[in-house]
Amino acid sequence: MPEVLFPVDQSRSFYDQQVPCHNRWHPDIPPVASVRPGSEFRLECREWFDGTIGNNDSAHDVRDADLSMVHPLSGPVAVTGAQPGDLLVVDILDLGPVPQQAGPVAGQGWGYTGVFARTNGGGFLTDHFPDAHKAVWDFHGQTATSRHLPGVGFTGITHPGLIGTAPSHQLLDQWNAREAALISTAPDAVPPLALPPLEHNALMGSLTGNAAREAARTGARTAPPRENGGNQDIKNLTRGARVFLPVFVEGGLLSAGDLHFSQGDGEITFCGGIEMGGFLDLHVDLIKDGMNAYGIEHNPVFMPGRTEPRYSEFLTFTGVSVDESGNQHYLDSQLAYKRACLNAITYLTRFGYTPEQAYLLLGAAPVEGRFSGVVDIPNSCATLYLPTAIFDFDVRPSSSGPQCSPRGSCATS
Ligand code: ZN
Repeated sequence: MPEVLFPVDQSRSFYDQQVPCHNRWHPDIPPVASVRPGSEFRLECREWFDGTIGNNDSAHDVRDADLSMVHPLSGPVAVTGAQPGDLLVVDILDLGPVPQQAGPVAGQGWGYTGVFARTNGGGFLTDHFPDAHKAVWDFHGQTATSRHLPGVGFTGITHPGLIGTAPSHQLLDQWNAREAALISTAPDAVPPLALPPLEHNALMGSLTGNAAREAARTGARTAPPRENGGNQDIKNLTRGARVFLPVFVEGGLLSAGDLHFSQGDGEITFCGGIEMGGFLDLHVDLIKDGMNAYGIEHNPVFMPGRTEPRYSEFLTFTGVSVDESGNQHYLDSQLAYKRACLNAITYLTRFGYTPEQAYLLLGAAPVEGRFSGVVDIPNSCATLYLPTAIFDFDVRPSSSGPQCSPRGSCATS
């Protein structure tokens, strides 16, 4: 086992750890350790709501989840010799739930998928699902099942939802300026268009006092992916993946967290992966001046992992950029993917699932989402690939009709 550079005591809040987490991006957050290129190490991670979501049949906890506390990140780790303009090469060696531990915190043998209420973050289909819901998943080795989604079991494609380097002061200023400009176009939108810096509940690692308060005032929230990687929620960043992250500050300052046991493309419910705490083993290296040499200037590049579920048959739902009132939109791939997801949800209700269960399933299961066509005016075409083998019944259409059975319900608020 590699050296643990960032330990987490899962019995304590992340506000109360020996090595403090950080939940904002800021270049002044000091590294917890420095490693040489070529090093391997382990980061332990806390699940993104700090253990406030329970293994129970109510979604009150998801309804009341406090988004100001996310995401608790493990790190930053400085890589000696890393300078702005380099590429940090990060290999994901291994990761998983909290090892050999059952307990009340997500990651201790179980995880959860949530649907946020419209008034508390919302999600991809929040117009259809304005209330909070939850599914609890049990881990059996690499497989997840849920009492809230009977008839389903799948191999997880485990990955860190969030991994990235620290922004420079200049880049941070750019983020804050462009996101503030967007928010100003509809400052009262529910859910909001973006999340501005917020001092409340900010944790700035080992910064304390005035320095911490000052950094918290401008520290970027961790929800969106940005040039530094961050919360990209790419399910294929699994074991064996290699990520090339742009370096913007001395040492690179690598942080990660938000582990997912599994997730569908798009993480559509927003709390849509199977959320858990656990461990993340990394190897780091450097490509000096790699950003310029390879033209990797704006966003990371990665090579997907070599260990993932092997599903060979899919039932694929399509959607085009026409809204549900029948209005034609011009090449709107976001809308097309929504329609593909809604088509899949309607289909699954014919087998006895509630729409909420189907929505949770598409967030958590290893479904593939693609922009299949983006040029055939006026309709974009998006597709959602649902692996048929994750169901313990035949989910394919046939002349005998859908096998409709009572399939319980998810946790609701
Ligand atoms: Zn997550």
